[in-house]
Amino acid sequence: MQRLTINNVREQVVGIDAKVPLLDGTYAPYINLDNAATAPALRPVFDKVNEFLRWYSSVERGSGFKSRLSTEAYNKAHRIVSEFVKADSERYTTIFVKNTTEAVNKLAHRLPLAKEDIVLRSLMEHHSNDLPWRFKADTKYIDVNAHGGLDLDHLDYLLKKFSDRIKLVAISGASNVTGCLNPIHEIAAQVHAIGAKIFVDAAQLVPHRKVEMGLPENPEHIDYLAFSAHKMYAPYGTGVLVGLRETFIQGDPDCVGGGTIELVTTGEIHWAHLPEKEEAGTPNAVGAVALAEAILSMQEIGMENIAAHETRLTAHLLQQLNKLDGVRIYGDADPESASHRLGVIPLAVDGVPHQLVAAILAFEGGIAVRNGCFCAHPYVLNLLHVSRDRIESYKNEVAQGSHEHLPGLVRVSFGCYNEEWEVDALVEQLRRIVRREYKGDYVQDKETGEFQPKGIFDDFERFFVL
Ligand code: PMP
Repeated sequence: MQRLTINNVREQVVGIDAKVPLLDGTYAPYINLDNAATAPALRPVFDKVNEFLRWYSSVERGSGFKSRLSTEAYNKAHRIVSEFVKADSERYTTIFVKNTTEAVNKLAHRLPLAKEDIVLRSLMEHHSNDLPWRFKADTKYIDVNAHGGLDLDHLDYLLKKFSDRIKLVAISGASNVTGCLNPIHEIAAQVHAIGAKIFVDAAQLVPHRKVEMGLPENPEHIDYLAFSAHKMYAPYGTGVLVGLRETFIQGDPDCVGGGTIELVTTGEIHWAHLPEKEEAGTPNAVGAVALAEAILSMQEIGMENIAAHETRLTAHLLQQLNKLDGVRIYGDADPESASHRLGVIPLAVDGVPHQLVAAILAFEGGIAVRNGCFCAHPYVLNLLHVSRDRIESYKNEVAQGSHEHLPGLVRVSFGCYNEEWEVDALVEQLRRIVRREYKGDYVQDKETGEFQPKGIFDDFERFFVL
């Protein structure tokens, strides 16, 4: 096959040529600007999975040729992932899970935390890196500044004030709302100086930037890291938790059963070695192979080329939006600083609900974005300066089954295959919305909050039948 590069990766995106129906009855290319939620599959990943399925069989302990081959492929996938994040296999274990959410929950169960121990996490965290900690320890938020960036002075203050009680700082490598990047290695050094550990939620970071665990001797190393394959062009149900072996050697796994043991008697359990001890049940070998192939593809393109390309798209979008009155950008809106953030841009159109903006983009432009609070309610409510009273009234509304007035934003997020013309198409549609030139007569479903143009009927079975 031709070498994969940043210039030809688009041709290698599965379904890139699929056209979608618009409100006016025509068909348009699907402009996917929702990559922070999930990314489409890459052709090499799809092909490798299909190739593997010919040889697929029971992983671990199967005696047949295909079983042994599948086990070797699964083990190799572990090695590829470890090498990708430079996790020294003597010190770190790489555990396959379902996704980042499962990884954080696992870590929260496996760390020996007492209720009075403190876990710091920031106000910008995705719920997946917030809620699991609330059940395990005393948690405190690190503040964010006016642009939504991490307030490093506040982190410093908290680390000093609670130095003897903080056991973990759980921080995202990059925000899934504003795309802001956190200085994870600098934070790691501060965290280690007080004898605590750092977990990095790298769900957004890993698909866009090179990430390395570092050696545990180095104060800037990362202790634990999680990410999801579906955000990196391998949507086959795999996620990763990389962590210090010492953490997982001690204690019992959070999920127990087949695959986790060396020997079981009626009274005793002898746990298996890592990572099997932590991967209960039949593993997702197909997902692991897919992730490994996605990593090899991304390495072939070059993480620095991916970063440079997405930086160009981000700068271009910010330049265009800064010229468009009526569109408000949240977070850092400066095109000059595009290389210091990810291509995740939250915005609002003055006077038009976020749900309606998203609907018009989809029905009239074939453009996919995401709207709402992006599983980061505390952060988005803070960015939008929503008052306590307003939050109370939303709570009442939601309790009565309505999502009509829920606040939120529209989020644009790039993948490495997006192109400048797609940014221009988005800006053109936003301009139409600002000028109220959209065509549809939209009605809101109060229960979901979503808008749909009158007279449209989603006939999905014309495109896909199960
Ligand atoms: N953390 C961040 C920063 C995310 O963006 C996401 C996904 N939106 C998650 C965690 C959760 O990932 P998953 O849904 O794959 O578990």
